[in-house]
Amino acid sequence: MNEFARAAALAAGLLLMSDANAQFNGKPPEDAGGQLLSESHKYGRDHPDYRQNMLHFIRAMPKAELHVHFEGTLTPPKILELAARNNIEGLPQDIPGIHRMLASSVLTQFLEGLAKSRSVMVTQQDFYEVAYDFALRQLENNVVYTELMFDPQGHTSRGVAFDTMMSGLVQAKQEAAEKLGIRIELLMQLHRDRSRESALQALEDAQRWKAHIVGVGMDNGPQEGYAEKLEPVMLRARELGFHISGHIDRYELDYEKNLAWLLQTLKVGRVDHGINIMDTPQLIPTAREREVTFTVCGATTYSDNPALYEDSGFKLYTRRIDEMTEAGLKTTINTDDPGYFAGIYLSEMIQAFYEENGYTREQLLDFQRRAFGGAWLSEADKRAYLAALDAYAAAGER
Ligand SMILES: [Zn+2]
Repeated sequence: MNEFARAAALAAGLLLMSDANAQFNGKPPEDAGGQLLSESHKYGRDHPDYRQNMLHFIRAMPKAELHVHFEGTLTPPKILELAARNNIEGLPQDIPGIHRMLASSVLTQFLEGLAKSRSVMVTQQDFYEVAYDFALRQLENNVVYTELMFDPQGHTSRGVAFDTMMSGLVQAKQEAAEKLGIRIELLMQLHRDRSRESALQALEDAQRWKAHIVGVGMDNGPQEGYAEKLEPVMLRARELGFHISGHIDRYELDYEKNLAWLLQTLKVGRVDHGINIMDTPQLIPTAREREVTFTVCGATTYSDNPALYEDSGFKLYTRRIDEMTEAGLKTTINTDDPGYFAGIYLSEMIQAFYEENGYTREQLLDFQRRAFGGAWLSEADKRAYLAALDAYAAAGER
């Protein structure tokens, strides 16, 4: 696709979304077939329009996303485009090749593919384009608030200046607010498989950009002993005024010990993934009392543990998220790496959870109430988003 065709496609996406926003701000939203959503509550589950209306209800609902990686929003076509622009060698030359590189079922190999793909971003313009393309996808999905994670060490370690990366990300964040009317905040992630010194350097750099970074978390491969290594850095991040969080992907290395560390020692407000809390029930009361938000994702396709193929992937997440919600935990639905996993953005992800678990509209609204409620926003901003969500729910009931 040439630049003009691409621009036209983006503009078309933008126009579609403007319509959805107009509906959301005023009239009741309609589904693709013109059926009023406000009628859908009258249908039973066996009504032929019920499913279509629910899918539209999900798409047009104002949403928040709390767990999505900037580097994971790079799409295969953009990887090829930037590799050519920046003369990056050693990558597959076509889209199927990029797909194969990113489709590894083993976490360590997947992370290697991820490292290769992010190496195509070099200039401020590259970072800006990738982040702004993602903002357009969020707009199409009516994700009005996003906390976007980024991994500075994956860029600074290959010679990109922290400020080059941040300038591009902040430019996209500001344009998303001004031109698209959606809000994106940035969460810095420290690599669990890099040194404490490297993490401290990232934290030092982040202070220059504090107005744009709301939190500090931990991701990438869970290297043995990372908790001891990064604990002083995370405590320092909190002292500096950042919110703190951490990843515990399913059945990853030492998940039981590290989940306890996050919840009881660091006392984080948020755990990314975290579905193994159902295997460590002694931690559930702590998470419940402190209202820790769990950012569950559905699209992970890899695992280091072959035994998990018996009980892995989407079915595992969809079952666990209901067990967690029933246990009184603050569960949310997120995409993690939407550019990689077959291009599933938040509407499609929530629709997939709906198709699997058969949620009611009220349950779907509750997922978003928990997402806005668990966001790192001021109380006034949270109330405003929650009021908009209530208005959307009420519009469908009239
Ligand atoms: Zn993640």
